[in-house]
Amino acid sequence: MKVANLSSTLTTNNSNYSVSTALKAELENKSKSNNDDPFIIADLREVRKRLEEWRNHLPMVEPYYAVKCNPDPMILKILCAEGIGFDCASQEEIKLILDQGVSPSKIIFANIVKTSVHLQYAKERKVRLMTFDNVDELHKIKIHYPDAEAIIRILIQNTKAQYSLGDKAGAPMSSVGNLLQEARDIGISVVGVSFHVGCRCFDPISYRNALTQAREVFEIGKAHGYQFHTLDIGGGFPGDPKKDGSIAEVARAIKEELHANFAANVRVIAEPGRYLVASAYTLAACVIGRRLKDTWLDGGNTKDRLTEADKKWMYYLNEGLYGCFSRVPSQLIIVKPKILLYNGEFSYRPDCELENQLLEEPRYDSIVWGPTCDTTDCLFKSISLPELEVNDWLVFESMGAYTTSASTVFNGFQKTKLHYINSV
Ligand SMILES: *Cc1c(COP(=O)(O)O)cnc(C)c1O
Repeated sequence: MKVANLSSTLTTNNSNYSVSTALKAELENKSKSNNDDPFIIADLREVRKRLEEWRNHLPMVEPYYAVKCNPDPMILKILCAEGIGFDCASQEEIKLILDQGVSPSKIIFANIVKTSVHLQYAKERKVRLMTFDNVDELHKIKIHYPDAEAIIRILIQNTKAQYSLGDKAGAPMSSVGNLLQEARDIGISVVGVSFHVGCRCFDPISYRNALTQAREVFEIGKAHGYQFHTLDIGGGFPGDPKKDGSIAEVARAIKEELHANFAANVRVIAEPGRYLVASAYTLAACVIGRRLKDTWLDGGNTKDRLTEADKKWMYYLNEGLYGCFSRVPSQLIIVKPKILLYNGEFSYRPDCELENQLLEEPRYDSIVWGPTCDTTDCLFKSISLPELEVNDWLVFESMGAYTTSASTVFNGFQKTKLHYINSV
């Protein structure tokens, strides 16, 4: 993992400091040194704000941050200092968190299929709490960590999440009885129930249904001699307060269901990922090349023959699908640019959408490519943009979740550098 380059930190006590100011300052730096590399402004204040909001809305639910979403060391430091828990899926993630001095009791090993080596590591480091959803995993746990505390992950169907996890994880309700019987027979301690409604779920009903189902599993547990004490309501919470709205509605539904269906002594945890970090990152990328589609075969001569309406621009950005945008094709993240620097002019306004920027400029249907030589490295196959030039910049907000953590260095393009601020 890339550790923060603290020498380039823009942290300041200037009371008006904002993401916008930081973007502008960094563009100026870059322009001085003729550097067109993409960069990210990471606003750590935003992470604190999200956690504060969580605690206001869901004080009875302990967050266990899903590390895979963004293991940025500066973010982890804040979350560790705040004393929250962590959802880890592998040995390295567990190690990363334990190395910050977090107690193993504040970690849930929330991967329903664990590598034996990772399980042995969990045992060595006393990370007891872990999820399962199938018989083979129970046997694996029995072999490598018989004293583990297991949580049964159940499948929630038909949720209104925008990115479903149900194909890969979760025991169907019809299998729960057999799984718990098997666990009982081989002597595994099952202590609770977990679910994940899917990512980007803004629908309170989905959480209500999931909680009703979890409540049933508490009963099935009882029938198999288990007294569950932990309920894990997973992740999926909306991550972008500007576009997705607040968690108020979802939180209200969860609170009501918890109150109505679960005893007060049941410990309730959640595994928010995107919710805590998405809004913290703002990514700026530079237009490093362009050409008109269909004109390159004859060296651009067709340009004159094209009518304005036929013009289709192709732009090459220096961030793409092998970098921070790797989860765009799967729609785990949805991105939309704004214009940051246009013709040397700083054009970013936090409240102004792309559609309302540079209204006097004609728009063209455009294709936006990433920087690698792979033809699939295409960010937008069709997007309406004003005519951009090389050295213009685009900006993408809410880029903190599933971006840097899922980016590669394919074709030699290095991971995008971070600049940390604490906005006021
Ligand atoms: C990815 C994941 C999360 C986090 O999901 P978000 O949608 O980012 O909140 C939580 N729990 C598990 C088991 C996951 O795999």
